[in-house]
Amino acid sequence: MSENSDRKIALMPYCLQDFSVSCKAAKNGYDYQCKGCSAICYQNHASSILGKNNIEPFIWMGGSIKELAKSTYSKGQSLGILGIACIPELVWGIRKCNRYKIPVVGIPLNANRCIRWFGEFFPNSINLDELEKLVS
Ligand code: SF4
Repeated sequence: MSENSDRKIALMPYCLQDFSVSCKAAKNGYDYQCKGCSAICYQNHASSILGKNNIEPFIWMGGSIKELAKSTYSKGQSLGILGIACIPELVWGIRKCNRYKIPVVGIPLNANRCIRWFGEFFPNSINLDELEKLVS
């Protein structure tokens, strides 16, 4: 992601949410956005850090990167993406962004606790201090 991009968005995985509450995130524009219902939710803290730094935070639930690139470029704007994800998802996303010529930066989660590897689901976390250092 270039800091000079007209539109900067961040895509985060749903496993960063607080699973002890009923998540109120809702679709808003490109994809889902956090509604801030839990003070201990990583998604909430990350969204607030990103928002303060003019980066639109989204919980990635399947929004199309191709459509996002098309609609942004058609308005004459440039686009940059910050991906927060496990390593396999980051690799996938970075390749996808390269295909549509979108500058991209990736931040790995603290661990990969995906149901794909463990057979059951575990919540996840991100280093919020490192995120803040990177985007501010
Ligand atoms: S703080 Fe946001 S992401 Fe976390 S559970 Fe609430 S609405 Fe969902």
